[in-house]
Amino acid sequence: MKFETRAIHAGLSIGNPSSAIVPPISPSTIFEIDKQGRMDEDYHYTRLANPNREQWEHLLASLENGAVAAAFSSGVAAASAIFQALDPGDHIIIPEDVYAGNRKLVQDVMNRWGLESSFINMTNPDDVAAAIRNNTRLIWIETPSNPLMRLVDIEATAALAAGKPIRVVVDNTWPTPVNQLPLELGADLVLHSTSKYFGGHSDILGGAVIAKESDGFFERIRGIQKMGGAVPTPQDCWMLARSTRTLAYRMRGHNENAQAVAEFLANHTRVNDVFYPGLPSHKGYDIARSQMRGYGGMVCFLLDGSRREAIEVVGGSSLIIRATSLGGVESTWEHRESSEGEGSVSLYNLIRLSVGLEHIDDLLADLEQALSK
Ligand SMILES: *Cc1c(COP(=O)(O)O)cnc(C)c1O
Repeated sequence: MKFETRAIHAGLSIGNPSSAIVPPISPSTIFEIDKQGRMDEDYHYTRLANPNREQWEHLLASLENGAVAAAFSSGVAAASAIFQALDPGDHIIIPEDVYAGNRKLVQDVMNRWGLESSFINMTNPDDVAAAIRNNTRLIWIETPSNPLMRLVDIEATAALAAGKPIRVVVDNTWPTPVNQLPLELGADLVLHSTSKYFGGHSDILGGAVIAKESDGFFERIRGIQKMGGAVPTPQDCWMLARSTRTLAYRMRGHNENAQAVAEFLANHTRVNDVFYPGLPSHKGYDIARSQMRGYGGMVCFLLDGSRREAIEVVGGSSLIIRATSLGGVESTWEHRESSEGEGSVSLYNLIRLSVGLEHIDDLLADLEQALSK
């Protein structure tokens, strides 16, 4: 069945023996043990398994065309599980402009634990090939990247790992499976912060790992989910599955509005440069066209002005909310450098915009008045 149909129906019947169309929430942390004793597959204790988590994981695996999924309490908890499934002494290749929380996780926690890492520019597969060592076990891809929207060719990069004991993971948080399906392009694993577009309403934290195959490496991730215990609540799983039923339609709106916003900004005299994969002027446009079906809701741009002026433009909006993060129905934006704080590598005049689902006329009017103040 097609994506929209699976988004609505997949997982609804799992762990739901009742005739209720919408599965009930199972808040219980414990389940009664059979008189004959406990079988492995029985529900037992909610950290290990819960009906709502199973429904949610089944839905995620279906939408990413994967075999299995493990849900976590945040995107970085999901990333931790992937890194911890490796062994000390293993080497990973990861983008220099990877999501800042994942960079900190590798540098401050995993390096100390014995994981070796190379942070590189991955836009050219030759550079990735040159960084591969005998002990390389994982290539981490994030495309489009944040906030410069660099594009990495998933198929060409995954091909470098073929025949080697190297797994390829794609952080698919920004595109979502509506716009990009990494497992179809040769990746082994997909990572999500479901706090963003899956949740879609800026009110839930969550993360997930989806695997192409239920192999030994995924079993390690599953083990870390259960033993590490960074699991989502049954309520959050239920809510995320509910939001996901409309994901395809929300993403269409995000794609359409963001494209219009990017084109508006590209033609604005106060704007120097716009980073959006759906603009033919974008460096990664050809790769984006070949591996994405839509270009997502995130637009970054450089103001023709000083740091102070960039902060003032963001301060001048009346509809677009000043906030970090992304993926909500409401539009938000931030002066990225001051939002990231100390250690930020963002350009002083860069503004990052998460384009929401308001009417495009209202969004463009607010942008125009903020830019012309
Ligand atoms: C937000 C985000 C994460 C981290 O997810 P949390 O749910 O905040 O822990 C990881 N990758 C990307 C691309 C993100 O935008």
